[in-house]
Amino acid sequence: MAHEPVKGLAEFGIADGMELALSYLEDPGDIACPICGPGSVEVMAYLESGHMRSGILAPAAPEGDYTVVLYCHGCARAAALDFSPAGPPDDRER
Ligand SMILES: [Zn+2]
Repeated sequence: MAHEPVKGLAEFGIADGMELALSYLEDPGDIACPICGPGSVEVMAYLESGHMRSGILAPAAPEGDYTVVLYCHGCARAAALDFSPAGPPDDRER
């Protein structure tokens, strides 16, 4: 998982970003902010993974290879979490 900066917004630190990621993976509909607790974090966008680096923001479906942008209304901080698959897909199972 990579942590990408979000331009123009205050950011979560790496540790808090990890907590957000874990909370998101546990229940995408109920993400808890490490500081403010549950109920204040909103999913702002799903973007194609890797595109933030080049400055292109391409909307994506929240499946497979994507980046999710989260924003906490409580502490007004944003986090972009990259959920790329851990390994390359292969077809060794035959
Ligand atoms: Zn917060």
